[in-house]
This record gives sequence, C-alpha cells and structure tokens, in this order.
Amino acid sequence: MSATRTSVITTTQVDADVEEVACDGGGSSGHPLVYLPFGKNDKVVCYYCGRRFQKSPFKIPADKPQG
Ligand SMILES: [Zn+2]
Repeated sequence: MSATRTSVITTTQVDADVEEVACDGGGSSGHPLVYLPFGKNDKVVCYYCGRRFQKSPFKIPADKPQG
C-alpha cells in the first residue's frame, strides 16, 4: 500500500489592486524571498513552495485609517 502524500496548499487572498506579491515560503518551509507579479491574471502560484495567491474581488479594508 502506497501512502498518499497530501500537501496543504495555502491560498492567500490579496487586494485586487495588488500587482505583485512577495513570498518567502512562510518560515519552516522557507525559501529565498521572491516577487510574483500577477500580470494579467488574478492569481499566481509561487514556483518555490506552490503557495497560491488570489486577488480578492473585494477591497480588503485596512485596520488602521490612512493618514
Ligand atoms: Zn513561496
């Protein structure tokens, strides 16, 4: 019986107006910091760790008021 290895893929949602995201693997399974441009897509996958970044259709409100 072969064990099936299930990897947990994390999807991170970001603001819809974000043009690129930075990923460093998130600590334990870390990798060099890379920037992943969305380009014309609304999602991008980190080629290091497979983490998915998805543009949110809604504007994520900031915790702190700007200014
Ligand atoms: Zn990554």
